[in-house]
Amino acid sequence: MHPATRRAIFRRLQAANPAPTTELLHTSPFELLVAVMLSAHTTDKSVNAATRVLFPVANTPAAIAALGVEGVKPYIKSVGLYNTKAKNLVGLAQQILDRHGGAVPAERAALEALPGVGRKTASIILNMVFGQVEIAVDTHIFRVANRTGLAPGRTPLAVEAGLVANTPPEFRKDAHHWLLLHGRYVCTARSPACPTCIIRDLCEYPAKTPARVQRKARPMRPARRPGRRARA
Ligand code: SF4
Repeated sequence: MHPATRRAIFRRLQAANPAPTTELLHTSPFELLVAVMLSAHTTDKSVNAATRVLFPVANTPAAIAALGVEGVKPYIKSVGLYNTKAKNLVGLAQQILDRHGGAVPAERAALEALPGVGRKTASIILNMVFGQVEIAVDTHIFRVANRTGLAPGRTPLAVEAGLVANTPPEFRKDAHHWLLLHGRYVCTARSPACPTCIIRDLCEYPAKTPARVQRKARPMRPARRPGRRARA
């Protein structure tokens, strides 16, 4: 993709949404870490449903550790794989207490060493909490980067490398959210909304969905006269 096209795509995404952010509810770095960790293989909506009840009760590493695995489970039942995630959540809280004085660590290695935290979650925390230029690649971003031609790649890591290397510097910090939201609401997996997509003319996807052809309106049948019954 030509650098000017790439820049034009981000300019349009930025104009449509100048301050993009996550849809996961949070009020602190620890809450964000918990929400992102819980969001693996499940929707933001179900994570928010869980954290709305969990955070008022426990939103610090000490409080989560004190709840324990069985204590955490009832709050996160709306989240997929909640048994495993409950174990990870308590392990993560305990490790933050033991190794990082109760604060979310700012280094990738320390974040990825936390139970349930992988590269994607670490990238989101480094980007959103610590302002580092990281572009976490999830399923939506992987699809949008490949379809548009922004950063074609066969693996999330290859796409991430392409995005980090080629996204103009002024757009790198927010690129993750623009591409994620575009993938979630416009460039969806099954039927991308190409006809109304704001980057349609810049996107290099060869199989864009066509605009629906409007059916001709059928002539209306004359209304049946009252009192007359149809013959059997
Ligand atoms: S034109 Fe279609 S394929 Fe390209 S980014 Fe937009 S929705 Fe996705």
